[in-house]
Amino acid sequence: MSTVPDSGMRMGKHILKQFLIQGWARFLYHTGVWRLINWLMPRRLLILAGHCVDDPQVNAGLPSHLRIEAGHLEFLLRGLGRRFALKSVTGGLEALSDSRGPRGTVALSMDDGYRDNLTALPPILEATGAGCTVYLESRVLTEGRTNWGHEFFWLLGEGKDSPESFAQAWLAVDGTSAAGLQFQDLLSEGAAHEYSVKKILKYHCQPEQRDAFVRERFESRGGDGPSLCKRIHLDAEGVREMLSCPVGQGAIELGGHTRTHEVLSSLSAEDQTKEIGGAAKELERLFPGAACETFAYPYGRDWDFNQDSRVAARAAGYKVALTTMPGVVTRDSDMYCLPRIMIDDSTPLHMLVAHASGGFLLWKRFGLKA
Ligand SMILES: [Zn+2]
Repeated sequence: MSTVPDSGMRMGKHILKQFLIQGWARFLYHTGVWRLINWLMPRRLLILAGHCVDDPQVNAGLPSHLRIEAGHLEFLLRGLGRRFALKSVTGGLEALSDSRGPRGTVALSMDDGYRDNLTALPPILEATGAGCTVYLESRVLTEGRTNWGHEFFWLLGEGKDSPESFAQAWLAVDGTSAAGLQFQDLLSEGAAHEYSVKKILKYHCQPEQRDAFVRERFESRGGDGPSLCKRIHLDAEGVREMLSCPVGQGAIELGGHTRTHEVLSSLSAEDQTKEIGGAAKELERLFPGAACETFAYPYGRDWDFNQDSRVAARAAGYKVALTTMPGVVTRDSDMYCLPRIMIDDSTPLHMLVAHASGGFLLWKRFGLKA
């Protein structure tokens, strides 16, 4: 039996769905019908998820999906601010529970604590009146050490490795583990790309083996861990400086994002408690009183965390936990599985207005998923 018609049909359905989503968003935006939907649908909070604002001094070389151009971010926030209330995540959650609050609220969140959140983000918040919640990876602050992902990006970005040469190097020391077999398949299919190699490193490796291998390769090719970490991430002093930026009372707040940015679902319950609860204690020690009330799961897709992660987040004192599964938050949302919409240079304003006005909540009422 052939699988070709099935996959062809799936592809066709996917294209049709994307066409409908885009068409609906454009229709709401350009006709002004979003206003009617905004009034009809329950109160909601759209949480935007980004990482870096372009600043060549500090984040050149980071993958483009992690960066957004300053002008585009400002355009999106101005467009949203004309139609909805702009808040931080905790401010947005308060607005949601206020029966006289705005119908639609938008909160910006930025993950991983990159240095550009101090050098490039505050002027945009000031110009647009937006708030932002910055989710911090605590080992960066306590040990000045970034995670394996950035050392891997550095190897590729600096031309020290290609995805093929990296996979071959792994095979030279390990061709028998689950990861080794996957790298073997990738190379024989000629499918070694940045994304596919990173996926194996993320989901099919023993974390200790992966961290040691990437670190050794990074250092042997001239990488300097402390200086890479200092260039791309904020240190504790930088976080304090960011919090004291004159962009409006409470416009920037902090949230937890684990100690080492591991895929939580790959860890035992005990290790997840160390990652989530341990990081919460470290943030409280570093920034006493800077309420860290909300938490974001690293990577944030529903296979990246599990029930143990939710239990650990609640035990650590977090009131809510954010994913990167798309959607908007309502009062009925599962507070330890809140959706966010990822933003980058390709994100159109009409799509965010459609989400923030409840345009896709309406779809949900008809059993459709955006
Ligand atoms: Zn992250």
